[in-house]
Amino acid sequence: MRETEAAEHSARFRFAVNRLDRRADLRDDAAALSRLLADPAARFMVVAGDRPLVSRGAAPTAFHDRAAAETLGAMFDRAVFLGSAAAGDGSPWFATRTRLDEAALARWSDFEVGDLRASAIAGVLPAEEYGALAQGRACLFWHSTHRFCSRCGAVSEMASGGWKRVCPACGAEHFPRTDPVVIMLVTDGDRCLLGRQSRFPPGMWSCLAGFMEPGETIEAAVRRETAEEAGIAVGRVDYFASEPWPFPASLMIGAIGRAVSRGIRRDETELEDCRWFSRAEVARMLAGDHPEGLFVPPPIAIANHLLMAFVRESAE
Ligand SMILES: [Zn+2]
Repeated sequence: MRETEAAEHSARFRFAVNRLDRRADLRDDAAALSRLLADPAARFMVVAGDRPLVSRGAAPTAFHDRAAAETLGAMFDRAVFLGSAAAGDGSPWFATRTRLDEAALARWSDFEVGDLRASAIAGVLPAEEYGALAQGRACLFWHSTHRFCSRCGAVSEMASGGWKRVCPACGAEHFPRTDPVVIMLVTDGDRCLLGRQSRFPPGMWSCLAGFMEPGETIEAAVRRETAEEAGIAVGRVDYFASEPWPFPASLMIGAIGRAVSRGIRRDETELEDCRWFSRAEVARMLAGDHPEGLFVPPPIAIANHLLMAFVRESAE
């Protein structure tokens, strides 16, 4: 890791660790892409639906050599070029889908259909694979949901090593999208605001979050979402860190905001509950020894790091 990166909060997140040099300069060079695709060192992530195929055994991986990728039914002609390893062998990495159905996939004993979220929580795969998996999964998801030109409706075609789609009918170019989400730690001195969505596991609380809207700054989105969901007015907002979140294609943008009002008016459709938590209580939730068994999201989630920063603040 470079020194500048090491100092950034974002570098600590599972899906932020990406060791690939994306080599955008090669994306429009068809001869270079063919060479990379045929490179004996090339590695391929292969997904079934939205789930990566992972090798079993003592050293599981989601990035396979060509022979394994062929076994897995990889569609090499539709592979997205993710980039070349920035260190080590400089191998080119690709992401693609399998042509095999579930019944065929279930027959292998050497591979399994993985669950990326569970895998990231447990840290099963090599650390340098998660950022590339996030990159590949978000990009493949975009291709699967943007097969038609949004200007004229014709079937569009993958181009530039998978980093664009071009419409043969009207010539429009379309680019992969990332959906920014603000997630905010709103503080009031020694307390912070946490909420519960009904889909959370029982006992889990987290920072409020919401999608950014067109024409909004990060700061304005933090103030709007907090006002909408909790009825709390927020003053100054500071950027904290960001993390690619490939479920399916978000960028979580962590921010810290200072509350300028205290009385909560909860949006009952968005949140099942919402209240202030003391710093001491948050410390126990992070440590896993809260007396009522309350807890916060695991360290793969940016909310965990926002809350860690809040708890550490008292020690500084
Ligand atoms: Zn078109």
